[in-house]
Amino acid sequence: MTRSANKSPLVGVLALQGASREHCRALEKAGAAAREVRRRRELEGLAGLVIPGGESTTIGKLMVSYHLLEPVRGLVAAGLPVFGTCAGLVMLAREVVEGDQPLLGLMDIRVRRNAFGRQVKSFEAELELPVFGKEPFHGIFIRAPWIESAGPEVEILAGHEGHPVAARQDSMLVTAFHPELTQDLRLHRLFLETVSAATARA
Ligand code: GLN
Repeated sequence: MTRSANKSPLVGVLALQGASREHCRALEKAGAAAREVRRRRELEGLAGLVIPGGESTTIGKLMVSYHLLEPVRGLVAAGLPVFGTCAGLVMLAREVVEGDQPLLGLMDIRVRRNAFGRQVKSFEAELELPVFGKEPFHGIFIRAPWIESAGPEVEILAGHEGHPVAARQDSMLVTAFHPELTQDLRLHRLFLETVSAATARA
């Protein structure tokens, strides 16, 4: 069978630490092709990149030692669409409230890690995301960060208990929760719209 002219966009999922499989599955269900990224050369030819949850301190250190931090920063700064969930949100932030860890530092947000309390490690909540209309999004939070403050370029997409937990800026999308752990593909589809728009521009 020949492939249609509208080829599925190839989206990378950073797979140094944390959960990459679920993101690959969600991207494929949403119509993309997914590739786990562990080495620099696996960044070649990507139309988008997902930075999954895990431990942002570990992901940052591994990105430094695998020589991925600078190349990813360069690609995203040049417009490669990126979707960061949980630790991925932390990695994209300009600043973390406490501590010193390698960051991509591309999104104009200041982030508090493990913000919802160390005791309550995880919880689930129905979130309102006005971009999706009335149907709530089931948010799964696992030692989640929140956005402490954001610059004027940042559009807040959802909040929980008064704290922003989803946002976008240019071609960057972040959530403090884990949409890949639900069957709801709306955020992955939203990200793929940005991917298609960026591909069309290029
Ligand atoms: N607490 C982690 C961090 O700050 C994020 C947790 C997660 O990705 N589920 O990096």
